[in-house]
Amino acid sequence: MRREAERLFSGDGEKPETERFLGALLDPPPFAPCVLWTGSEEEKAAFLETFSPAPGDASLPWLPEFALRLAPGSEPGGDPLHSAGAFYSLDFSSVWAASALLAATVPARPRVLDLCAAPGGKSVFASLALRPGFLLSNEVIGKRLAILRHNLRRCRVANAFTQRLDPRDLQTLAGDQFDTVIVDAPCSGQSLLAKGIENPGAFHPSSVKGNAKRQTGILTAAAECVAPGGWMLYSTCTFAERENERVVSRILERRPDFSAVAVNHLGPWQSRHVDFPAYRLYPHDGLGAGAFSCLLRREGERGTETELPPDLLAYPASGADSSPADPVQ
Ligand code: SAM
Repeated sequence: MRREAERLFSGDGEKPETERFLGALLDPPPFAPCVLWTGSEEEKAAFLETFSPAPGDASLPWLPEFALRLAPGSEPGGDPLHSAGAFYSLDFSSVWAASALLAATVPARPRVLDLCAAPGGKSVFASLALRPGFLLSNEVIGKRLAILRHNLRRCRVANAFTQRLDPRDLQTLAGDQFDTVIVDAPCSGQSLLAKGIENPGAFHPSSVKGNAKRQTGILTAAAECVAPGGWMLYSTCTFAERENERVVSRILERRPDFSAVAVNHLGPWQSRHVDFPAYRLYPHDGLGAGAFSCLLRREGERGTETELPPDLLAYPASGADSSPADPVQ
């Protein structure tokens, strides 16, 4: 962990930041939890009678209205409005990472693919931020798919469908049909420590290397699903450069028709490891456990929308019992 920290903050005068980073991982400070509001204004008013908002933070004027930061220590998960689907609990780091989507200029009722979707936080965020005409939330692990479907239904996410496909199969089935593709990739999860969650081996080079390889494969397949002129969000909840900036760099080399796009409101969190726009939130920033976020755009113009293959529409998330049958190998 120390070796990674020293790599991240190498350079003159960075020792204090190395120590602050390690301190936040080993003795995590309390963070303000967040909820994405999916219910009515009346329900929100009732909710705010029980839960106090977090004190305002001048660095967050971009926070969308549907994202509410609550006072540290708030535990809204047990509130009846949660089971009623009035909100989705999401840690602030995830909201921060997903907020890059706010910079994507998408057509009305865009087609959105959330490739690594369970338990559903980014899908709910995308639904509120982008108002998709078609949202495909994909999850490869069966048990997690069930949770994802439950959350999409509970939060009444409109126009949502699910699949359980390997990204390469999805790429073959869908082609470049999506205005926005979200890759919130499986990763070594180093930031979990800053949530007080044990994660042995998260900093081990073999874990980082294995994750980087998998992430590169997923992002390569994801890029094939982006329509000309469309957007792709790559995010993780880990700190290793190899799983973040280097994965993006590899895709930019392989796909010169993609470029990383500046997200103005994330400017204060620009990564010091690359000269393209890519953003890092650290636990010692005091806002959340940590994340990486990078928004990419494919060049070109969106042509006329073609019909989606019927197989993609097989599993509406709001349908009673439908669920993808064929297991992922
Ligand atoms: N986006 C989710 C959210 O906001 O709630 C969290 C996603 S989590 C960081 C990463 C997900 O990727 C997990 O649900 C995991 O099962 C899935 N995953 C694991 N291996 C994968 C693979 N090879 N291809 C695609 N997804 C994978």
